[in-house]
Amino acid sequence: MPDLRTSLGAFCAFLAAACATGPYVFTVPDHAPPDFSVSNEIGEARAYEPKLAERVLECMAVAPRIREILDSDRTDPPSVWLLELDMVDEGGPLAVCVADRVMIGRNGRPQLEYVVAHELVHWYVVDSPYAPIPISVEEGLAEYVSFTVLGRTAELDSDLTTTGTFSVPGSAFYPGEEHWYALTLEEGQRARKAMYSIVRVLGLEGVRALAEDGADEPMDYVDAARAMAGSGDPFSGGSVRLSIPGDASAEEGP
Ligand SMILES: [Zn+2]
Repeated sequence: MPDLRTSLGAFCAFLAAACATGPYVFTVPDHAPPDFSVSNEIGEARAYEPKLAERVLECMAVAPRIREILDSDRTDPPSVWLLELDMVDEGGPLAVCVADRVMIGRNGRPQLEYVVAHELVHWYVVDSPYAPIPISVEEGLAEYVSFTVLGRTAELDSDLTTTGTFSVPGSAFYPGEEHWYALTLEEGQRARKAMYSIVRVLGLEGVRALAEDGADEPMDYVDAARAMAGSGDPFSGGSVRLSIPGDASAEEGP
């Protein structure tokens, strides 16, 4: 079996988190390509209606900026497919980024601009200095970068500072993608926000430095963010307080 990161990419969504199950994971990547295809210098968009394919391609305009932010060397143009499948109903996320394409479910359509940008972060993390980061941190990075390029960071910050203290299951911080994918929808949503706040505290340079240092466990990033607490950033021990039960690294099971 090939490496999970490159074969399946990263599963994600803002509202729907990772209830991806084995059969789901291995079925969706085999989905037939939608009929209509449009492309430009950025990439290709496919959908079941020409108008929708055009809309997807418009949303892909942020791709070069995302590639630049991530300092990615990836050069193959992204292919984004808009499916008629309701992934959440089938226990899956809004979208999935696999090795050679992004697939977005019907339930991702209302937030298409955001979902496309978020998935393109997963696309360009490959062949970037951020490649070694664990899936949970990659989800935080995808939120951070997608909201940045869409100019919506203030919206997410406001949501988080209003939320105040919230707790995240310790298992979200275990190494290993299986823990992340085992979270319920609601747990995954909180965990994604938590990881966004951690990426925000560390900044892209901080995340990159840790990744280049070989940090591959979520707690490496959490601890680094905690060490920066008190710097005056509202996310570093201020308004957003993470209640992470126990010490995830110590609790890690078999
Ligand atoms: Zn994601």
